[in-house]
Amino acid sequence: MYKTKPSKYLTLFCFLLLVSLSNITLANPIQSEIHEYATLVDPDHTDKSAFIEAVRKTTLLSSTTSIARIFRYLYLKDHPELAEELGFPTIALPTENDWLEFQEKDVVYYAVTRAISFISEGNALERLLTLKQQQLLRGNKAAVAQVACVLAIYYFDFAKDSLNAIAELLYALPEVAPADNDVSDALIYNKAFVLYHLFSILYDLGAYEASFRYGQVYFEHIRQSPVYELESYDYFLMVMLANQLGKFDIAMSNADELLHKATSMSPSAELFALLAKVSVHARRNQPGDLDTAYALLDLVDLKSQPEDWSEVDQARLLAVKAIRFGLQGDMPATEENISSLRALMVSNPNAFNGVDFKYLSILEGFLAEFNHNSAIAIKTKLERLEIEHASLVNALNNRLDTLGHLMQSDIDLIRLESLKAKELANRQALETARLKSIILALIIALVSLVSAWLFIQRNKVRRLAHFDPLTGAPNRRYMFSLLNSVFSKTSSGNCIALIDIDYFKKVNDTYGHQTGDEVLIKCSDVIKSRLRKSDQYCRYGGEEFLLLLKDTNEADAKEVLDDIRDTLVQITQWNTTSQTFSVSFSSGLVELGPYQDLDDAISRCDELLYSAKNNGRGCTMLNDDRIFSSAAAV
Ligand code: GH3
Ligand code: MG
Ligand code: MG
Repeated sequence: MYKTKPSKYLTLFCFLLLVSLSNITLANPIQSEIHEYATLVDPDHTDKSAFIEAVRKTTLLSSTTSIARIFRYLYLKDHPELAEELGFPTIALPTENDWLEFQEKDVVYYAVTRAISFISEGNALERLLTLKQQQLLRGNKAAVAQVACVLAIYYFDFAKDSLNAIAELLYALPEVAPADNDVSDALIYNKAFVLYHLFSILYDLGAYEASFRYGQVYFEHIRQSPVYELESYDYFLMVMLANQLGKFDIAMSNADELLHKATSMSPSAELFALLAKVSVHARRNQPGDLDTAYALLDLVDLKSQPEDWSEVDQARLLAVKAIRFGLQGDMPATEENISSLRALMVSNPNAFNGVDFKYLSILEGFLAEFNHNSAIAIKTKLERLEIEHASLVNALNNRLDTLGHLMQSDIDLIRLESLKAKELANRQALETARLKSIILALIIALVSLVSAWLFIQRNKVRRLAHFDPLTGAPNRRYMFSLLNSVFSKTSSGNCIALIDIDYFKKVNDTYGHQTGDEVLIKCSDVIKSRLRKSDQYCRYGGEEFLLLLKDTNEADAKEVLDDIRDTLVQITQWNTTSQTFSVSFSSGLVELGPYQDLDDAISRCDELLYSAKNNGRGCTMLNDDRIFSSAAAV
């Protein structure tokens, strides 16, 4: 399948633009609405009737979808005669909603279609740049690349700004799809489009090295493509370019390849091929080259039947003749043919739309130079053109240095910004979380603090309620609550004892109250240290302590009391006085019977204690009235 490709001479109208940019003939059944309409730009339908016929085979005219409205607008807005013929005298402007719907269905198709829709409208550049920015923000490289391609067309074809066109093409290049799909991407610009236009626009600007570089890539890409083939114009351009750079081997091999292909094509293509080959011989100008060139040109004459040819083919023939006369040194004949060529082009603006007449000047200049013709006008023209080219090349080279993966860096930038925004949001979230955890920690700390405080307070209260502040011993009230729990069950097997320090008043009087306090504290400590965990005691009164010895018989209890007394008596050193003395105590001991009344038991103890006092102190009195004396008193 031989493919057409975008013409170098881009057309003015949107419809024709679409047609000129499509590369595709439809091979498979149309799957979607977008593809159905997009494939209407098939180059086979470049003439009006073919287009109308193709449109009528689709649902384009009957459909009420957003896509149909958009495509009707694109195809028919600039062609009222076509619209009328199709029965659509008024073409509705698609709404913003239509476009939004399109964008949701296929962002790449949307981008390219929207961009094309801007081209012939007001503020095209501004709107195209905005669209590009919008697609950049979406981060869709393929869509951005499509808008960049349309921008390139706008710059090159409408704004006559080749440098910006190149910038956009280079921008799009890394992100356009390779030229290997001819069915679904009827409207989508691909690598073939971008590379070809870089190749040809750079050649146009005289940036031959750069043009050659992209030309090589373009050739390579097309040779690898399963659906594209190199065209005669590609070869011709490459031959001219290689000639310009003095790469005659490359020029010649391309010219030969072109000629080989052209022999099976139209006579115009063959003429084109021969012209290319002639140009290599003429420019190389090695021994024998000129003879070969003449022979080739004669071959052109013999083969040509110009009366059947199109204006373009006729123009090529006139160019060949001009070259031929120029090579033969016949400058008047050269000038005559060039004049005819210029006249043909001027009288057929449609056929030569977009052709730059400077090539004619270049051709004139080349032939004049070749013939050492000193025609100053031609030389000056040539020089001016060369200077013009040189400055363009300079500007271009400067621009080329700064071009490259611009889209990637834009997207990276946007990504970076969105990353930054995300990071900021994350940081804020983290900050909030941190704040939350700080607040939580504070609350926890506060709660624990408060509860600790409450706990401490409660303990304090409890201690205050249950313990004697001087000795730390449980107080009487607390002791009674404990005793009550004991006495609620059988109290058998337990003993209680009441202790009273002997001659305590004397201690206070002799050594002071502070020492008296110290004696009380020491006595409490000794009792506490001698009791088991299950036992209990309390400060019963001023210098009296009540003891509960659990699961202890009278004899064992007596031993405990003796131990306590012995220990206490041995203490003779006091912190609050330098003097030495010791204290003893008297005690009454009762072994409890079953279900004994607490008060009765204590009263009994008190009685026994009293007995002990009366029996010389420093002893324990038991229920059976036996007196157990002990160590010394004060
Ligand atoms: P006895 O051998 O007959 O028990 O003689 P005593 O001196 O111990 O006599 P009494 O029991 O009458 O004396 C108790 C004294 O204990 C009276 C009081 O001043 C003193 N006292 C009571 N509570 C405290 C206290 O908390 N600290 C001090 N230093 N003395 C106290
Ligand atoms: Mg006493
Ligand atoms: Mg007392």
